Amino acid sequence: GATIELEGLTKQYPGSALPAVDNVTMDFKEGETVILVGPSGCGKSTLLKMINRLIEPTAGRIRIGGEDVTDMDPVRLRRKIGYAIQASGLFPHMTVAQNIALVPKMLRWPSARVRARVEEMLDLVGLDPGEFHGRYPRQLSGGQQQRVGVARALAADPPVLLMDEPFGAVDPITRDHLQDELIRLQRELHKTIVFVTHDFDEAIKLGDRIAVLRERSHIAQFDTPEAILTN
Ligand code: ADP
Ligand code: ADP
Repeated sequence: GATIELEGLTKQYPGSALPAVDNVTMDFKEGETVILVGPSGCGKSTLLKMINRLIEPTAGRIRIGGEDVTDMDPVRLRRKIGYAIQASGLFPHMTVAQNIALVPKMLRWPSARVRARVEEMLDLVGLDPGEFHGRYPRQLSGGQQQRVGVARALAADPPVLLMDEPFGAVDPITRDHLQDELIRLQRELHKTIVFVTHDFDEAIKLGDRIAVLRERSHIAQFDTPEAILTN
């Protein structure tokens, strides 16, 4: 894992009267899982997208492992950050293997290493490589797609994993199973994980710390699940 430090992070979308994310300063510790909870529209996705540089902050700085990445080349940032989203975000015209290989290829890993890594990632998320390698996303169940989404996010072994409601689109039983798998992965891999959900039970189950956000991502509480439950 690596520390993540946000300092005065702000996003005002063009044409909006108010910022979607307003002057957020918070730190995530190396190897911890922080859950962001808060009402729809409070800026959780915007916050993650800024950290992943899918959108540019209006103001503020982002540091990962002590290094200022606010202006880092997005391809270099892929070494540091894996990103998994709701409904997996897989490319429908690419096979499972091609989807997982995306970031390692972008980083110009040698092809033998990419191939080995794809198999390793499928094993890691509990999918038989022989069976799933060549399938297309539409040939997978929702839960299997989410697993591939997590495998893709982890493929280049980034120290940081950003997850935006990754289990939001699967049935409750599959979700429960995927949550257990994530807890197992976290014990093995020690990533720094920032995980967005609107499901408070999920937050309590997965979080080392929980940030409860209000409108414009103002921080109402940022503490352990135990402390939040007793407050
Ligand atoms: P959350 O993930 O907490 O539901 P979002 O980050 O998606 O919140 O949205 C925060 C606010 O920013 C909302 O008011 C939303 O309407 C607005 N917003 C999100 N994306 C855009 C965009 N591309 N352009 C303009 N406004 C946006
Ligand atoms: P675009 O902006 O053209 O969609 P991106 O390079 O931003 O292209 O993302 C391409 C795909 O890679 C998207 O589906 C996205 O979900 C995924 N992705 C984005 N950032 C990361 C990351 N850090 N690690 C893994 N996958 C990512």
